[in-house]
Amino acid sequence: MAGPWNPAAALRMARTLNLDPRTEISLAPYSSIRIGGPAEVLATVRRATDLARLAACAQSEGQFPFVLGGGSNTLILDDGIPGLTVLNLCREVVFEPQPDGVLVRTDSGMPLAQLARMTIRKGLTGLEWAVSVPGTVGGAVVGNAGAHGSDTAQHLVAAEVAMPGQEPEWLSVRELDLAYRDSALKRTAANHRVPPAPVLRAQFQLRPGDPEQSRAAAKTNLEHRRRSQPVLPSLGSTFRNPPNGFAGTLIEQAGCKNLRCGAVGVDTLHANFLVNLGTPGTGRAADVLQLMASVQVRVRNETGIWLKPEIGLAGREADRYTAALLNPSA
Ligand SMILES: Cc1cc2nc3c(=O)[nH]c(=O)nc-3n(C[C@H](O)[C@H](O)[C@H](O)COP(=O)(O)OP(=O)(O)OC[C@H]3O[C@@H](n4cnc5c(N)ncnc54)[C@H](O)[C@@H]3O)c2cc1C
Repeated sequence: MAGPWNPAAALRMARTLNLDPRTEISLAPYSSIRIGGPAEVLATVRRATDLARLAACAQSEGQFPFVLGGGSNTLILDDGIPGLTVLNLCREVVFEPQPDGVLVRTDSGMPLAQLARMTIRKGLTGLEWAVSVPGTVGGAVVGNAGAHGSDTAQHLVAAEVAMPGQEPEWLSVRELDLAYRDSALKRTAANHRVPPAPVLRAQFQLRPGDPEQSRAAAKTNLEHRRRSQPVLPSLGSTFRNPPNGFAGTLIEQAGCKNLRCGAVGVDTLHANFLVNLGTPGTGRAADVLQLMASVQVRVRNETGIWLKPEIGLAGREADRYTAALLNPSA
């Protein structure tokens, strides 16, 4: 993540907006793997308008706030996140009937699984796959979250994004250019070495369905998760699946299932999950990074394939570590 970071300005902006910012707050409790250093400045937003105003203020001063959703796809480095981190608790959802279905307009901090359950209760179909996916709508838009043969792109119509130097704008799903765990927002951020531009709200187009069928599909998806994934804290799939293969299978074949580094280990049920085996808050991001590197080397030695990370990193040195994870010779 490129600087400069100005914590004093971040504090001032968040205070002006009555967001009660705090400094040097551990982010481990806000990460699904329960690992991570502190936010230099942490502001919590509960209304999309506040997120928009905070983003505009920060961007006008050349600052790029890091929006943290469920922290279920982000390894927060041990020295924490410099500058402004925004914890997104904006959760308003509006259902707008349309001639051909219902337009669901949701704040980006809404947990995706909760939104999916809400839509099923309303008799709508389309988000049954999402009942088992942690994280927020914002994180799902940025990373095109998906499961059970579907993904965010299937029913997303548009997302409202606060781009630097512009009024918030609704970008169509086409403009967002979602791909496998990827989006234009994610790519632009990576190219400029800044966090993704804040997603404020999203719209999904859903159809009326058979509630019995939707409930049954959701139940099947949840049961599949319980059978195939660990309950210990993790960040989900650590590595992207390579073309025509599964990262988990390659990791298992390379004999990594017993690997461990500090309090972090390769999960015995699903080898693409690295789990925090210690008490919450005891693991270190450095252990996760070291374990990821060991897995990559073993898999490459066994198969010739260099696994690419699916999780993102946040922190001062995130770019350097990401480059090393992407490129064996970096
Ligand atoms: C047990 C487990 C199972 C999982 N299973 C799946 C699965 O089946 N399918 C799948 O796709 N993923 C899965 N994941 C990964 C994760 O749930 C998804 O990637 C999820 O969409 C991340 O959302 P989040 O809110 O937690 O994002 P975070 O980790 O908080 O953020 C991820 C990135 O998105 C950015 N971001 C988040 N919100 C916003 C916003 N409002 N505006 C701008 N940028 C934002 C962050 O800055 C960061 O760069 C799993 C994770 C776990 C722990």
